[in-house]
Amino acid sequence: MKVLVVNCGSSSLKYQVLEMDDSTLLAKGLVERIGIDGSVMKHEKIGMDKYILEAPMKNHKDAIGYVLEALTDKEHGVVASMDEISAVGHRVVHAGEKYASSVLITQDVMDALEECIDLAPLHNPPNILGIRACQELMPETPMVGVFDTAFHQTMKPENYLYAIPYEYYEKYKIRKYGFHGTSHKYVSMRAAAMLNKDVKDIKVVTCHLGNGASCAAVKNGVCIDTSMGFTPLDGLVMGTRSGAIDPAVITFIAEKEGIGADEVINILNKKSGVAGISGVSSDFRDLEEAEAQGNERATLALQVFAMRVKSFIGSYMAKMNGADCIVFTAGVGENDPSMRKLICSDMEGLGVELDDEKNNVRGKETVISKDSSKVKVMLIPTNEELTIAQDTVEIVGKLK
Ligand code: ADP
Repeated sequence: MKVLVVNCGSSSLKYQVLEMDDSTLLAKGLVERIGIDGSVMKHEKIGMDKYILEAPMKNHKDAIGYVLEALTDKEHGVVASMDEISAVGHRVVHAGEKYASSVLITQDVMDALEECIDLAPLHNPPNILGIRACQELMPETPMVGVFDTAFHQTMKPENYLYAIPYEYYEKYKIRKYGFHGTSHKYVSMRAAAMLNKDVKDIKVVTCHLGNGASCAAVKNGVCIDTSMGFTPLDGLVMGTRSGAIDPAVITFIAEKEGIGADEVINILNKKSGVAGISGVSSDFRDLEEAEAQGNERATLALQVFAMRVKSFIGSYMAKMNGADCIVFTAGVGENDPSMRKLICSDMEGLGVELDDEKNNVRGKETVISKDSSKVKVMLIPTNEELTIAQDTVEIVGKLK
């Protein structure tokens, strides 16, 4: 059974086609600059050179039209016709409190996603556009929604409520939602498989450290807490995002700089994080290069980032009464041995002993702690698309 996985951003669209009989990737691609001059599709049939198409694409429907053409193309395609695609799995950022797992997309689901636009004004609208475009072009194909927030819906109120007047939760649904759920779910399941245990029997701290970054506490296969909050601005320090700060800083900066609170939030989203502290870059490769050349603020940015991750690991070990393993994933987590070392240093007291030699590795599933380490430290490359495709197969399977 072949599944198309679609992940729509405001001006971009990522896609993959997977053969789910043996979980292999057949094709993947990226469309950029949708609705702007210079639209381009980069399509790759696995094992072949990239096929690049530059053509005007005024909206997501145009973009998906080109993707479908590429997928059925004689040379670059992977199916003879789109009838061979059994289902489409859509990544959707926010489902509010409505869905705790993936669902078949119906009109009711579309209405619920529209209602969540308020909660994710940048992300949900393009997600919805992508679903609509696919529905128009593939009207007979079942579509499944896989939500970033769903895995975190198991959090209890004591972990998701903010200590603000309760009526704001009741009126506006202000609470912690959490994001990157698909990734936290995937790596916690893989960690169990690597330990030869049932996920229901282990406690995992998952650290998804990419441009956006979040940690989660996954106990017995269930998320009990996570670091992103009402929006993806909360929690860890990130590439350009501040993560958690004292909220009083917002009005203080606004007054001092003579700008509005919304502008300060924009600064916290786009000009802060390791980029803001270092003044160098949001990319950890650039920061480490700058550090090697003696740039002290680059060093400081890396240290602040590491300390914040450490805080969440400690907090989650306390909340779960220990942990069997800590998992690193996403761009930084998978590729940056020196950051993993900085985070895990001086944690022997908690039973965490990183092995410097084993840690000198990139992008593959492996244990990087010493044999004596009570808490195993693991590197697990994330695979959100595979998880989306798996959920899609499961849900579409129930239709038959
Ligand atoms: P996102 O999906 O949130 O855009 P990724 O998970 O792809 O982010 O992570 C991208 C980040 O990973 C880059 O900004 C960079 O900081 C980091 N990264 C990628 N490769 C390396 C590397 N070899 N060493 C250090 N950091 C890396």
